[in-house]
Amino acid sequence: MHFLRLARFQSVSEEPPHEPQCRMYHDNMSSGGAPLPERAPFYAEQAGECRLFAHAFHQRLPVLLKGPTGCGKTRFVEHMAARLGRPLITVSCHGDLTAADLMGRHLIDGGDTVWHDGPLARAVRTGAICCLDEVALARRDTAVVLHPLADDRRVLPVEGTGELLRAPPQFMLVVSYSPGDQSLLNNLKPGTRQRFVAIGFDYPAPEVERRIVEAESGAVPALAARLVTLAQALRRLTGQDLAEAASTRLLVRAARLIVAGLPQPEACRAAIVDALTDDAGTAAALDDVVVAVLGTGAP
Ligand code: ADP
Repeated sequence: MHFLRLARFQSVSEEPPHEPQCRMYHDNMSSGGAPLPERAPFYAEQAGECRLFAHAFHQRLPVLLKGPTGCGKTRFVEHMAARLGRPLITVSCHGDLTAADLMGRHLIDGGDTVWHDGPLARAVRTGAICCLDEVALARRDTAVVLHPLADDRRVLPVEGTGELLRAPPQFMLVVSYSPGDQSLLNNLKPGTRQRFVAIGFDYPAPEVERRIVEAESGAVPALAARLVTLAQALRRLTGQDLAEAASTRLLVRAARLIVAGLPQPEACRAAIVDALTDDAGTAAALDDVVVAVLGTGAP
């Protein structure tokens, strides 16, 4: 089988959204009509976003998730897809991603030319939740296919087959972006943004973040608490010495290394400090913050 055009589907994941660390999430919140299945990936809610997402799903409204990287947007969609009982198709957008990459293309198969749906067309056809990660990175021509799908028409014109796909009620379009970079923000035109219900994310409140670090790494509560205090200290440096803030993702990774037996300063250097800066002076200053908050001892 030969691609007629260079395929760019490597970044598409259609695996069921269950990771090894998936566990049941017990809570007593109102679920907004979305039950908690046994295998939903763990997600600690921040501020009513589960209910909002469930309502948007049932009202057939597309959703825009915005917030800094590593604060739980991807995990949230995985969790909600499992709760709503829908398959999840995720596309990691990049600078070369075109509308054709989303829609599909003709491929040569045993001498015949056969149409292959792209991830977006497949999601519409099968009634899946389609999540375009970092949508602002995608080429601007993708807006042409997203617009009729994201407004009340809920249709996808597939040029390659001449079809006009009508999205079934179970289909949902989700896009996410990290609004730190203004040039990327401008990439998402108002005409696109205003078609979506927006859900804003930020780093979780300390007690929620402690719970996440514990659940995701197996860290004891005292270690999780110290790492969250470290993150808060590092976040205060954002904008001055650091371009990016220490995310929950980085905390979880440091905690895993420590739980695995690595000394705390070494784990934090590898998982947090070196992920935040390449500058030796800044890294040394961050190491000092690590030692001031965590000490130098083993776990
Ligand atoms: P984003 O998509 O915003 O970049 P992710 O969803 O990939 O971030 O989150 C990174 C990691 O942080 C997750 O794999 C998970 O371990 C952890 N995490 C962050 N927020 C949460 C949350 N609210 N509940 C559970 N895990 C979370």
